[in-house]
Amino acid sequence: MLFDILTIFPELFSSPLQEGILRRAIAAEKIAVNLHNIRDYTVDKHNMTDDRPFGGGEGMVMKPEPLTACLHDIQGREPGRVILLSPRGKKYNQQQAARLAGYRRLVLVCGRYEGVDERFAKQSVDEEISIGDYILTGGELAAMILIDSITRLLPGVLGCSGSAENDTFSHGLLKHPQYTRPRDFAGKTVPEELLSGNHADISGYRFVESVRVTLERRPELLNSVSFSREERRRLDQAGLLDQVNRLKKENGSDVKNTA
Ligand code: SAM
Repeated sequence: MLFDILTIFPELFSSPLQEGILRRAIAAEKIAVNLHNIRDYTVDKHNMTDDRPFGGGEGMVMKPEPLTACLHDIQGREPGRVILLSPRGKKYNQQQAARLAGYRRLVLVCGRYEGVDERFAKQSVDEEISIGDYILTGGELAAMILIDSITRLLPGVLGCSGSAENDTFSHGLLKHPQYTRPRDFAGKTVPEELLSGNHADISGYRFVESVRVTLERRPELLNSVSFSREERRRLDQAGLLDQVNRLKKENGSDVKNTA
């Protein structure tokens, strides 16, 4: 998968791309990241990428010509999907990451200052994405978040193939608590079920704990999750079924099982 980044601060990407899974994904040619400095596409003698806003007001706005020239230069025979990082965009989540992982090439445009000229956004951008309801100083960190979250979903990138499938959000639930050695840490022991060696008991325990933690922290997520007959039995046994059913009823979502 190819990521093209349009930015005025290409150096911001060097460290995150040189460590861990991203570094390995680049070395294994699972991904390539091309950094394009928007300033290289300016035509005036001061190499200006921004200017004052028409109508007055605070700050500067990124000019449309260098952005358009850069895009024009890099979009070859196989043009990428152009994404503008923007707090006005559709909010990013795991489903969006999975969707974007289906593209062969993404072009990520990083805004700065007060944002980019609307004509560039309208004319050249396929979609705008926000990484959350807060304002960053620029789109570079947001672009890195897309690169990171998409790359780990690509086939062969994670060492253990099941890792991404079992992540928080992948099944609509938060991840169950996890434990490693030692068995006893400062008097706190690992739950017995995880030591049993019985795979059915372990996965049943993890499922119930996933639902428990989701109920506690992000109950709204449960509205879009359906449970099989066996899962409902497990939830009943754990004393959670009534709570789940009540929550779904309050929100008018489907309480039927899927089995
Ligand atoms: N004045 C703009 C507004 O109120 O919407 C904010 C501009 S922000 C200081 C500069 C740039 O950072 C934006 O153009 C965008 O590229 C990026 N940015 C800031 N917050 C973001 C977010 N939550 N998600 C994605 N990109 C963001």
